[in-house]
Amino acid sequence: MTRLLDTADDFVQDALAGFTAVHGDLVRRVDGGVVRADPLPPGRVAVVVGGGSGHYPAFAGVVGAGLAAGAVCGNIFTSPSAGQAYRVAAAADAGGGVLFSYGNYAGDVLHFGAAQERLRAVGIDARTVLVTDDIASAPRDRIEDRRGIAGDFVVFKVAGAAAERGDPLDEVERLAIAANHRTRTLGVAFGGCTFPGADGPLFTVPDGTMSVGLGIHGEPGIRDVPMGSADEIAEILVAELLGDTPEDRGDRVAVVVNGLGTVKYEELFVLYGQVAARLGAAGLNVVEPECGELVTSLDMAGVSVTLFWLTEELEELWRAPAYTPAYRKGRGERPAATGVSDDVYAVADPVRGPAVARRAENVSTASVKRADRALELLTAVRATLHEHEEELGRIDAIAGDGDHGVGMRRGVDAALDAGTAARAAGLASVLRAAGEGWSEVAGGTSGALWGAALASLAPSLDRDDLTVAQWAVAARAALDTVVRLGRAKVGDKTMVDALVPYVERLEAAARAGLTLAEALAVAAEDAMAAARATSALRPALGRARPLAERSLGHPDAGATSLALVLSTLARAEEGRNP
Ligand code: ADP
Ligand code: MG
Repeated sequence: MTRLLDTADDFVQDALAGFTAVHGDLVRRVDGGVVRADPLPPGRVAVVVGGGSGHYPAFAGVVGAGLAAGAVCGNIFTSPSAGQAYRVAAAADAGGGVLFSYGNYAGDVLHFGAAQERLRAVGIDARTVLVTDDIASAPRDRIEDRRGIAGDFVVFKVAGAAAERGDPLDEVERLAIAANHRTRTLGVAFGGCTFPGADGPLFTVPDGTMSVGLGIHGEPGIRDVPMGSADEIAEILVAELLGDTPEDRGDRVAVVVNGLGTVKYEELFVLYGQVAARLGAAGLNVVEPECGELVTSLDMAGVSVTLFWLTEELEELWRAPAYTPAYRKGRGERPAATGVSDDVYAVADPVRGPAVARRAENVSTASVKRADRALELLTAVRATLHEHEEELGRIDAIAGDGDHGVGMRRGVDAALDAGTAARAAGLASVLRAAGEGWSEVAGGTSGALWGAALASLAPSLDRDDLTVAQWAVAARAALDTVVRLGRAKVGDKTMVDALVPYVERLEAAARAGLTLAEALAVAAEDAMAAARATSALRPALGRARPLAERSLGHPDAGATSLALVLSTLARAEEGRNP
């Protein structure tokens, strides 16, 4: 449990404030997380890591020389928003581009993915290397679906060391990918973890047993076995890890014995001894092992073992010095103190504030007129989503978590506010600001997707000749964005099921020479019909998947809200051209 807290809601921010007070010479807070106190030298690649909080020293604790340039810090076990990831990355960037690295979880992939697009849109090269080291989370033939656990640290270390010596972004990315391919972790849980302020743990492990294959968000292991001695635990973990090695593994291996939160260091050392003996007996050379807490899961009782199969180039990076709040290695030197204040450093946001004003100077009056029209449409969409909030929540609650109505309402409100503030900068800026506002405030899967989709409309809609063909191009761009980020296919029971027929019908309408009002109307009808037809489907993605059967006979919430929005747009266009 968490004994030292004021309010559960403020726990993450209070902890971050204390953390930066302690380590103000090494890190400073930015809106969304922390970056190094000393900026990177110009041209250096910024390795930006992150995820939910509750994993310290991941992620803020590994920001510093030889490791990360910044860490994005979400709520406990919750993906940070795209806006947070964007702002931390923009603050960390020194002109050499950004490498995002984090564990493979759907929410993080969506929000960091959207942040990556935004960085690219403002001319910052950004790449992503997902960590997928947990061998219990998916079989070898679906290795890319595995989640990231303690192997996060290995990949961050390699990427950080490569960036520190001045490697260009392509190279840092290549080495991080290589490190991830050669990293495997398996853990065992003895007891669950408890959210700050919560009454009980997220899971329990039955007395006398341990749970093999733990996760780092309070997921229990995948199988319960009788509790073993250190010797027996080492045997299980090492045997399974040696059964799942990269091809061409070699015989040099770095080892991380990681405590999940409440296992004592002495116990970890006992386990390390057993692990090392087995690796030695298998003819392997252990290189610079780590033993301690590197990626935790609140107060979870558990331990994991990571094997990182070295190559010559990866070994050099593994051995390289580092100096961060939680991790120091070799001759890494403490940087000279810069005397930074504990204020949260604000990051200029290109879709709001001064950048908007700057752009507004050379914006055409036509683009501002188009911005006004878009804000009118958004106002109409807002009315629709407010009206249907309760209904959308009810549909989502059948097999999902019931938050879709609230999410869409919050999203559209924030989009309208942000879009209105950017009005003078023209339509493209309005759409980008609206998308950012939506994603930042709505949360959830749909928040990330709607935010990115809105922003993706900007290049194709800000032009004089808004023809049916041009609408189709814009809608196709939105679809591509949703699919690229969410990876849903038609039939997975998501908003994609309504968006695909919409785009196809618009494209056909353009060829057939329909007016814009006619085209939007028939396409919206198709989207509505497709949304209703999702009732016959079982969800293959998202939060509704575990309860797929319950969802049969009910439409998908996200497809329904999308069809409602598209119908609203059609009605608005019809009203304009009677
Ligand atoms: P969450 O699922 O995070 O609670 P919401 O409840 O706001 O988010 O949104 C749920 C909707 O999001 C689903 O009904 C579905 O239409 C859509 N969705 C979920 N996952 C995906 C995905 N990978 N691609 C496209 N849409 C998705
Ligand atoms: Mg939901």
